[in-house]
Amino acid sequence: MKSEIITVGNELLSGATLDTNSAYLAEKLSEFGILVSRRTSVPDGVEPIAEAVEEAWRRVALILTTGGLGPTSDDVTKKALARALGKPLVLHEEILKKVEERFRRRGEKMPLVNQNQALLPSGAKWFVNNYGTAPGILIEDGNKRLIALPGVPREMKGIFEEGVIPYLRDVFGAAPPVIRRKLRTTGLAESALYEKIRRVIPEGGGLHFAFLPSYYGVDLRLEVSGREKEEAEKLLEEKLSKIRPLLGDFLYAEGEVSMEQVVGRLLLAAQKKLAAAESCTGGLVAKRITDVPGSSDYFERGVVTYANEAKHQLLGVPQKLFKTVGAVSPEVVERMAKGVRRLAKVDIGIGVTGIAGPGGGSAGKPVGLTFIALSDRKKVWVEKFIFSGDREINRLRGSQAALNMVRLYLLGKLK
Ligand code: AMP
Ligand code: MG
Repeated sequence: MKSEIITVGNELLSGATLDTNSAYLAEKLSEFGILVSRRTSVPDGVEPIAEAVEEAWRRVALILTTGGLGPTSDDVTKKALARALGKPLVLHEEILKKVEERFRRRGEKMPLVNQNQALLPSGAKWFVNNYGTAPGILIEDGNKRLIALPGVPREMKGIFEEGVIPYLRDVFGAAPPVIRRKLRTTGLAESALYEKIRRVIPEGGGLHFAFLPSYYGVDLRLEVSGREKEEAEKLLEEKLSKIRPLLGDFLYAEGEVSMEQVVGRLLLAAQKKLAAAESCTGGLVAKRITDVPGSSDYFERGVVTYANEAKHQLLGVPQKLFKTVGAVSPEVVERMAKGVRRLAKVDIGIGVTGIAGPGGGSAGKPVGLTFIALSDRKKVWVEKFIFSGDREINRLRGSQAALNMVRLYLLGKLK
């Protein structure tokens, strides 16, 4: 079962608004085993909308549109539907009453222009909008269906959940859902990850793989469609059990779990407390750890020691090191990690220092060079990274590598 999504709005094409509606709809539709085979965004014009609808109507049995249902002259989706499907707009008294009532309840008189909201392509049915005035529209023609929803995400979602889902359940209830699993890795490039697992990833039988790289690492998504739930889950589990051992320590989480959540759980389980001293990441490590509710149970403090003087005063980094080896060096980061652990009187201290860029790099110390250290009561580990992004990316990567070091330490895997 294939569908297409058409989102309407000049703001989507100019980049002023991100098209989150189609992402939401695509994900929801997959729960009904309905795959989205194409997503199109078109400007607010009768011609482009009608053209997109006509084309999609030829290709698939289900079309969803969002946007352009408002009462004002810039909202023309209904006119376009009327033109594309040859169904003139007719007034629905029932909708008119609903819209009038909505205004009356707020003690306002309905502006005349809102009458437009009671116009629907002839033969169309409609979904109640409990969050605004534009109803959702349903057009059925043989085995073809088109559902038009407003653009405002809250209204779109409200109608979808309250009206469209029950409708889809009625019509497509028996379709098996798409089932997904996610393996999250860090520290390995996409191609290297591919090399590691290539022999176990032949597709087929409704199984699909996707490599999803980001600055935090590469997520591996497995998806099964067109099979019954139990069978799909069994197939996924079989595949996963082959992949997991190949990923080894690069695998840090499964599903929608973040690195900071993993680190938090491990710290809690080990009953250890952490403190962080950060330079180039400017507090990002502390921010991410404290994004997790309950982190006060294992995170004591984070200090941002940006200037050399701060590293010296707060963490006891010897002044002479800044002259001999420089602030971005294994010697300094080691003292930062030790210093913050002692300062906070905790089990684990981490230090991060690096050159975030764009300036400050040199031949010997390029932009992206980052040292991270972890100190416990007995030992210090120092790692060197050369990230190759811009300032923002280097900081994200630095924070991920620092958290990953804590994870590996708690797993007893830090060499
Ligand atoms: P409309 O129903 O076309 O008048 O859209 C109203 C508002 O909803 C727009 O100004 C956008 O802010 C928002 N919006 C419209 N389409 C989308 C979309 N595809 N994704 C996210 N927001 C949207
Ligand atoms: Mg619009």
